[in-house]
Amino acid sequence: MLSDKDRIFTNLYGEAHWGLDEATRRGDWDGTADLIGKDREWLVEQMKASGLRGRGGAGFPTGLKWSFMPKQTDGPVYLVVNADESEPGTCKDREIMRHEPHKLIEGCLLAGVAMGCTAGYIYIRGEFVQEAKVLEAAIAEAYDKGLLGKDAAGSGYDYELYLHRGAGAYICGEETGLIESLEGKKGQPRLKPPFPAMVGLYGRPTTVNNVETIAVAPTILRRGPAWFAGIGPEKNVGTKVFCISGHVERPCTVEEAMGIPLRELLDRHAGGVRGGWDNLLAVIPGGSSVPLLTKETCDDMKMDFDSLRAAGSGLGTAGVIVMDKSTDIVRAIARLSKFYMHESCGQCTPCREGTGWLWRMMTRMAEGRAKVEEIDLLWDVTKEIEGHTICALGDAAAWPVQGLIRNFRPEIERRIRDYTERAATPLAAE
Ligand code: SF4
Repeated sequence: MLSDKDRIFTNLYGEAHWGLDEATRRGDWDGTADLIGKDREWLVEQMKASGLRGRGGAGFPTGLKWSFMPKQTDGPVYLVVNADESEPGTCKDREIMRHEPHKLIEGCLLAGVAMGCTAGYIYIRGEFVQEAKVLEAAIAEAYDKGLLGKDAAGSGYDYELYLHRGAGAYICGEETGLIESLEGKKGQPRLKPPFPAMVGLYGRPTTVNNVETIAVAPTILRRGPAWFAGIGPEKNVGTKVFCISGHVERPCTVEEAMGIPLRELLDRHAGGVRGGWDNLLAVIPGGSSVPLLTKETCDDMKMDFDSLRAAGSGLGTAGVIVMDKSTDIVRAIARLSKFYMHESCGQCTPCREGTGWLWRMMTRMAEGRAKVEEIDLLWDVTKEIEGHTICALGDAAAWPVQGLIRNFRPEIERRIRDYTERAATPLAAE
């Protein structure tokens, strides 16, 4: 369990004001100029040593990602913060932006310095109206106090920070779709390579990082990488903001140590599974894009990147969706299929056609209006999509269905049998 002294987001619930006065009292903007005064290499090395892995879903080492940015350039390079947070079940970045905006803003400056950027852009999803207002006001405050702009925080470094509101498309959370949207175009992901570190925003080298990743950076740099690396299991270190929703007594967003057992996370912070642990059916541990876990797997599951990957799922955004035994699991996954069909940008055929196919088949499976052989066909469809598309939305659509077939095939078969029997039975009234 994370002790209070190791908590980074001490105002996650908005008990104090988000503004600069309170934020500095909480330790934000403390010695920022000194940190900037160490050189760029030092900042990157500190982040590498901390072992921080990106908090947006992929879990890529942050320091390493920062080191990919070119050392010599003939023009501007950019930091872009992905604040699009659209993954179903995920509501962590919005809490940071509502209540701890200065951690994010200071992080933008420090990350910008570490990568030689002169400007940063925060791309926030359109539906986050209040969060955008708070961030806008916090950025204005920072400019007012000389923390951004020319000679940012008295460091001698010039750095501009812009907030950009999206129009509400899930695919704009994909980093190259986001860049396209930021450039004023349709938010359609780009083919990679070239990666954004070479050709990103406006054709310039760019790093895209998640809100939480950037917001934890100032505390790591102040407290030192060894402190952060000392929390949680090896290679999966640090604190993590988890969002717990669904069939628990008290859904919540909470910062905890990486590697905390799932059961402890739910019991300690969310009041446990509704009706008790034995009433648990399944958990989607990392936002809707990752395969579900059955109760048996959940019994001793640790919440970190590697443990969840080894169990055939993923930490993703750490959006923990809990489903008790009252859940119609086939319908629940069918609903996710509808979401991915709706959000496909339509560029690649396997995703554009396949997501619709998945949804139509899943709808029939939920009713039992299918043949048992079609379960294998459904599996094949997911395999035709997975790994055959420009961006990860194809995989995200395929994996929940694969998780369902892998773990709940008997339930799908039972429905098909029941439906077939009902269809074969003459109506009682006749
Ligand atoms: Fe668009 Fe889907 Fe292809 Fe991604 S995988 S680029 S969302 S069609």
